[in-house]
Parts: sequence; structure tokens; C-alpha cells
Amino acid sequence: MKVKKVPMRKCSGCGEMFPKKELVRVVRTPDKKDEQGNVVEKGTVVLDLTSKKAGRGAYVCKKAECLKKARKARRIERSLSTKIPDEVYDAMERELADE
Ligand SMILES: [Zn+2]
Repeated sequence: MKVKKVPMRKCSGCGEMFPKKELVRVVRTPDKKDEQGNVVEKGTVVLDLTSKKAGRGAYVCKKAECLKKARKARRIERSLSTKIPDEVYDAMERELADE
């Protein structure tokens, strides 16, 4: 008998595995470049509540608490290899708290 595989992802906060759709993706949008390949606009880090954004992603539970843990341990920054400013974290925490 074949078992249907649910894609699992690890929460960057609590470190547990969950079905992908139960997590929220944190996405680093790609840098914008001109024709010469110079970066004209740095990519930003946003919550991807629709799972449709392109870019590197990390996952957290849909809980502000897990985002806080991930923030403290800098796990999202590490998996996206980018710096995340405080105001971006604050905005993401607010968004999750509203869910
Ligand atoms: Zn979690």
C-alpha cells in the first residue's frame, strides 16, 4: 500500500517537523539587478502567507512565539543567509499575532 507523502518542513522556532501547509514561509525576495548585474535594490524578508512568492524560504509555525524563538536564535537569518532588521521582525510578529 502506498502512503501519500505530505511534504514536511522544519519550524525554525521550535525545531519540529510539520506539514508544509501548517507552517508559514519567511521569504527572502531576490535582489533587483540592472542589465549589468548591479544590485539596484536589495531583496527584503517578508512573510509569505500565500506561499506564492519566489525566493529562498524558511519556515515557522503560525505562532508569534515560534517566530520570536527563531528571531532570538537567528535561525531564519542563517537559513536565508541575510540580515533581518528589527522592524522586519516586528512587522512579521504583528502579522502572525493578527492571524
Ligand atoms: Zn514552531
